[in-house]
Amino acid sequence: MAEDFSFAIDRALRQELEGWRRAGLSHLPMPRRKRSAASPPSASAKPATTRTPPSSNSVSRTTSPPVTRITSQPTTAPTTHALPVVAEPLPPSPHSLGSREDREWRLNQLRQRVAACTRCQELACARTQTVFGVGNPEARFLFIGEAPGADEDAQGEPFVGAAGQLLNKIITACGLKRDEVYICNILRCRPPGNRKPLPEEAAKCREYLDGQIAAIDPDFIVCWGATAAQNLMGTEESIGRLRGRTFQHGRATVLCTYHPSYLLRNPAAKKDVWEDMKLLLKQAGLLVPA
Ligand code: SF4
Repeated sequence: MAEDFSFAIDRALRQELEGWRRAGLSHLPMPRRKRSAASPPSASAKPATTRTPPSSNSVSRTTSPPVTRITSQPTTAPTTHALPVVAEPLPPSPHSLGSREDREWRLNQLRQRVAACTRCQELACARTQTVFGVGNPEARFLFIGEAPGADEDAQGEPFVGAAGQLLNKIITACGLKRDEVYICNILRCRPPGNRKPLPEEAAKCREYLDGQIAAIDPDFIVCWGATAAQNLMGTEESIGRLRGRTFQHGRATVLCTYHPSYLLRNPAAKKDVWEDMKLLLKQAGLLVPA
């Protein structure tokens, strides 16, 4: 009798999870654990909000995004992040969940919303155009930068300036092609004077980032620079302390490293980035160049 009951619960749980998966939920957020004085703190600190079951193909979240967990060393990271802004869920996708067409459809839906977005008044007034993201919707690797600069604002594509040229060289050195990765930013509009994104701007744009991550469902996320790393994972740790190890964000393994713009100013840090790339390739099971 007890075994029948146990089996029934197991089957019901599986059916529930399958239903969520079909509805577009690719990751289950980890429950937040209370910290005891003796236990090491987590790098994650996204504020929890009201949780509801996901609607079909929804990219909006009424719950916190996937929690980031450290997979190597512990860290201490106070967090001060604003709540993400949530809009209407996307309509149901006409394509089978997870297919290339489905991913492209969801990204296009998001792109249209971003193009019309005026949540950040200052940025929306000053931008030439929004810079949504570019690349393979089925990419294993999702690269996240900070925000569009002047070149990106003019061309509507991330990483096209001098930093983009250097990123291309890094991608090539890794034995990858640019169209094998997907590239986006924390913000989709250029901050005036190329200033750093404000926390409230990052929070307003977070829904689009989460939507892109959900649509692409990458195996690996590379955060280029402190702004990307700190905003994705909800930490204030420096990029110098975040690099060289891996984290878990939902299903994806996250690696943080220096932004190519920083490398242009500090070429000596290139060797650190190369070490990070070798760690990424090793974890991805790819050939690691000597
Ligand atoms: S930065 Fe993001 S949230 Fe802000 S106006 Fe642009 S698209 Fe909208």
